[in-house]
Amino acid sequence: MIFTIVIVRGLDYFLVVNSAVPEIKRRNCFKCGYEGDIAETRCPKCGKPLKTVKQIRILGGILVFLGAFLILFVGAISVFVWSLVNKASTDGHKSFTGTRSDLVLIFGAFAFIILFGVVGLIAGLWQLIFGRRNKILVWVILGLGFIFVIGGILISVFLNR
Ligand SMILES: [Zn+2]
Repeated sequence: MIFTIVIVRGLDYFLVVNSAVPEIKRRNCFKCGYEGDIAETRCPKCGKPLKTVKQIRILGGILVFLGAFLILFVGAISVFVWSLVNKASTDGHKSFTGTRSDLVLIFGAFAFIILFGVVGLIAGLWQLIFGRRNKILVWVILGLGFIFVIGGILISVFLNR
């Protein structure tokens, strides 16, 4: 419900703004937080490239979509794998031959990806609603991505030993 309202408001915003003044747009700086209705594409305070509110909202929409996709996709895989593991144990025939720590590893990875999707979704919604990026959320996403890559490398090194 809230989701639909946000999308509709976002679209409304685009329709109104697109037909408005061409050059002067509301832009804001991710680095120093500067915000203003100007034509320059670089921040007058710190020189970093500025993004328009519209660009940030479009990116926000993409983030929401990707986040929701990750949550649904990996969520569905988790449920599927979980049902496979449980089915094996009730049949008496064990088709799942892994250990308990394998399960922890598999579902830990799923949970991590879903967490990544949730943070992405929240960051995207933030951008759609407020028209600016949330510094903390962006850093959390980058941090999670970094942990995921490093963790993946460590685990593969550990398993191949
Ligand atoms: Zn700046």
